Amino acid sequence: MKADIHPNYNLTTVTCACGSTFETGSIKQNLRVEICSACHPHFTGKQKFIDAGGRVDKFKRKYGI
Ligand SMILES: [Zn+2]
Repeated sequence: MKADIHPNYNLTTVTCACGSTFETGSIKQNLRVEICSACHPHFTGKQKFIDAGGRVDKFKRKYGI
């Protein structure tokens, strides 16, 4: 690698919506993610409903459920 042509690549703490944090290399600081390996259904093996942006509530209101 040449010096001074790459952005700073640091270890940063990623915070997930589920509350777990992990460290990864990134040029950004303090990343936030919606889902991580600790809570993703693929990794946990459990079904988990992810309601992005309250769309379910909106649907329920619309149909009076
Ligand atoms: Zn998570």
